Amino acid sequence: MGNHHDDLARLASFFGGEEAISVVKALAQAGTTTDDVIATQANVRLNTARKVLYKLYDHALVTCQRSRDEKTGWFIYHWKLQPDQLDAFVRSRKKKALETLRTRLEFEKGHSFFMCKECLNVRVTFEDAMESAFRCSGCNGQMVSDDNRKTIQLLEDLSRKLESELSDRPAAFVTGKV
Ligand SMILES: [Zn+2]
Repeated sequence: MGNHHDDLARLASFFGGEEAISVVKALAQAGTTTDDVIATQANVRLNTARKVLYKLYDHALVTCQRSRDEKTGWFIYHWKLQPDQLDAFVRSRKKKALETLRTRLEFEKGHSFFMCKECLNVRVTFEDAMESAFRCSGCNGQMVSDDNRKTIQLLEDLSRKLESELSDRPAAFVTGKV
């Protein structure tokens, strides 16, 4: 169940926050519908709904069909979520995230690190620390060994989580059963 929220959060960060998620949810529940209806159901402004829809359209995650309103003569756009595409999109982003995690994990496992307790952003490999005689590049202070077991543990946990998510069926919001 937690995966569902993580997927939403990941999509939200990509498509513009919580409002984007409301739009996706509204679309998943509505089937085929207009931007007006989506905006109302998602409780967002029409412009916001449109912006999200255009972004989704750019990634082929929604389809759009045009018809003409017989009374006003204006075009009406009917939007529909592409659940398979959305699922593939989420998966491909997860796979990329997993690759990044694995690369980092290998790097952490394969090296020893030294850091400066004064300058929190200074953290180098043993090899680099040797080069500078274990002096910090920021304050010239003595660098100390950095135990990265917790970092490795965290990266391993995250990797496992992503691996299990990737072996799961499509997320609930993708199938419209929200
Ligand atoms: Zn320093």
